[in-house]
Amino acid sequence: MNRLRKLYEKSMLCAPSQIARQLEQEKVLIPTAYYASLGRKTRKQYTDPYAWDQKTVACILVNQQYTGCTVNFMTTTVSYKVHKTVYKPKDEWQIIPNTQPAIIDEDTWKRVQELREHRIRPTATGRTSLFSGKVFCADCGSKLNFCAAKSLNANQEHYRCANYKSGRGSCQIHFIRNVVLEKIVLEAINSLADFVRCYEPVFLYLMAQKDILSKRTETSKLRTAIENEKRRIQDLDKLIERIYEDQVLGNISAERYARMSVNYENEQCHLINKVAEDEKKLACIEQTSLDLKTLLKVLRNSTSFEELTPTLVNSLIRRIEVHNNDKSSGHCYVKVDIYFTAIGLIDIPTEDEIKSLMAKIKANPQECRLTA
Ligand SMILES: [Zn+2]
Repeated sequence: MNRLRKLYEKSMLCAPSQIARQLEQEKVLIPTAYYASLGRKTRKQYTDPYAWDQKTVACILVNQQYTGCTVNFMTTTVSYKVHKTVYKPKDEWQIIPNTQPAIIDEDTWKRVQELREHRIRPTATGRTSLFSGKVFCADCGSKLNFCAAKSLNANQEHYRCANYKSGRGSCQIHFIRNVVLEKIVLEAINSLADFVRCYEPVFLYLMAQKDILSKRTETSKLRTAIENEKRRIQDLDKLIERIYEDQVLGNISAERYARMSVNYENEQCHLINKVAEDEKKLACIEQTSLDLKTLLKVLRNSTSFEELTPTLVNSLIRRIEVHNNDKSSGHCYVKVDIYFTAIGLIDIPTEDEIKSLMAKIKANPQECRLTA
């Protein structure tokens, strides 16, 4: 179980292929060999009990059941004649939460899935940056490439815009050293943490103004809308069936049937799109509120962060935008925008601003009593 937790932790830093190699070196039994060692029958044959495949690692990483739920109806057979198992689309899976003790907490699991979607690959030298997949050019929007050639020491590892192409590309260099970026991000995290720790009500008030706190009325409105739309879709099915029967029985003319069925089908099509849209909105609101909870949990739990860890970066930072360096003042000055998960860009208010915000909250405590 501990090994599983470590594996998830590791996956935030390395690719499945690297983890597979490490497990092989550490002589960890592959699942089939492990079951066999317990005396259980296994279907698969294996020659090397330590030959980990990156696919096996990936399978473990996407298995939602480690969060303590049970997932049913993941597969189906094509027909009773063809005994080929096929995976069903995810939205047809039945997920029953909390059926078993969770080994991986849900936040970690979700974060790993998110990272897997971005498919971050290590550089040729095997060195990875803490921020891979999160650093972008503020001007052209493309990714910044992480350069960690063998000839560079850790201090020289840097980022530059993917469109710079050594001066032949369409964008400027947007150069920043990895160590500098790490320092900037760590400072930003610490000042946000200080702010949240000392003035959480003010922080929540600001978030409410930015519309980030999940609005219960809006979610419940969306839920009701989705329910109604789904019910109408089912009703339309029945209506379409009924007019078809009416037409067969000669109760309505073929022409009238054609007109009505087109109308019903158009309405149904429109509703199906609307449901998809509303469900997306709802999922987005729920994700933001989950992200905000994670963010607050991480920030509240420590007095100050000494160094960046993959977990810290992945639970707090969503995106980093680097501006091109500005040498006009004589110093090399690089502006970096840090987008935190859930809250995005945040300007931490000054002492005076905090004071006036506190006064506002005190004057109207009912409206400002907020929780995340
Ligand atoms: Zn660029």
